[in-house]
Amino acid sequence: MTIGSSNLRHAALIVAAGRGSRMDVSGDVPAKQYQLLGQRTVLEHSLETCLSHPLVATVQVVIHPEDHDVYAETLRAVPDPNGKLRKPIDGGATRQISTLNGLQALAAMDVPDTVLIHDAARPFLAHAMIDALLSNVKPDSGALPALLVVDTLKRGTVENRVESTVSRDGLWRAQTPQAFPFEAIVAAHMHAAESGRVDFTDDASIAEAAGLPVALVPGDEALRKITTKDDLFWARAHLNQKGDMAMSTLETRVGQGFDVHAFTEGSAVTLCGVTIPFDKSLAGHSDADVGLHALTDAILGGLGDGDIGTHFPPSDPQWKGADSVVFLEDAAQRVVARGGQIRHVDVTLICEEPKIGPHRAAMTERLVSLLGLAPDRISVKATTTERLGFPGRGEGIAALAMATLALPAS
Ligand code: MG
Repeated sequence: MTIGSSNLRHAALIVAAGRGSRMDVSGDVPAKQYQLLGQRTVLEHSLETCLSHPLVATVQVVIHPEDHDVYAETLRAVPDPNGKLRKPIDGGATRQISTLNGLQALAAMDVPDTVLIHDAARPFLAHAMIDALLSNVKPDSGALPALLVVDTLKRGTVENRVESTVSRDGLWRAQTPQAFPFEAIVAAHMHAAESGRVDFTDDASIAEAAGLPVALVPGDEALRKITTKDDLFWARAHLNQKGDMAMSTLETRVGQGFDVHAFTEGSAVTLCGVTIPFDKSLAGHSDADVGLHALTDAILGGLGDGDIGTHFPPSDPQWKGADSVVFLEDAAQRVVARGGQIRHVDVTLICEEPKIGPHRAAMTERLVSLLGLAPDRISVKATTTERLGFPGRGEGIAALAMATLALPAS
């Protein structure tokens, strides 16, 4: 059995319960993990890395008990197509207590084989770092990223005078995530808690205190912890640099979709995933959600990857009466699989009746949760055709959609 192979369950635990007392925070943001770094918060950056890593099966975030609102508010931009993210749980008075709470939450459900414990204040976590840690963690030892100390070290007096020079030989700066065999780190944490200590600042020192060996893996300067305003300025500059590089390798694609379904006898229609009581239904092989069909085709169009019928043939009886959400999620997953992102979607429903206006907010909300996009990246509109043509005669509903994608340039 090799840790790092895909038949083991790897969990990520992101500790975001701190209050950032060393940084002057402004506005409504309570702590550094909720500061904006580009279009997302500091926390969302490493969260997205964990959620999108193919070997990470589940992700638990520990937050401050007072941060549930800000957490929910800021988390909408992170895609989680595979549903890996669990509900956040409350942290405690110290990092050590918060981490133990998180470990216990993971143990209470589907116990993982390995856990990566990460500080939310280190946003620039790369997939390659997770790969390196998972290939170095063993059933009887952990692994942590660390950098050799290169500056000469001085011990100072209270008057800020040099007292002595400390040898930097063999000294490393510990970073996170730190990877451990799950049962062993839980036992080490329990051991630490029982000893009465609650002030350990990282999990490798808890492992060390319990006699669990930990391997040093080459760290990454970009994993710098955001503690001060200067760190935050550095992080924003670093992100801009990365963004400039990324922009040169990403291209923008726009796909369009169009669909029509005829009315038939019935008592409700489903549009953009929302069921609306009505005196007719829409005819179709699936649930006939004309809005989601147009949108799915728009995404597939942007990918240049066929259309709904290619992937879900109407001749296949298993899609009879299917919830069209399945089609949309499949298309969204294809974007993720290509290393891309959906940036914006725009759907127009064309009908005289039912009236769409009262249901627009619910449709937008539904697409927010299905696509994991911020509400301002989603548009649902409606129009009539002034009683002209088939929608005007009330024979059915048409839908147009556009999807803007960012894809790695081919
Ligand atoms: Mg259709």
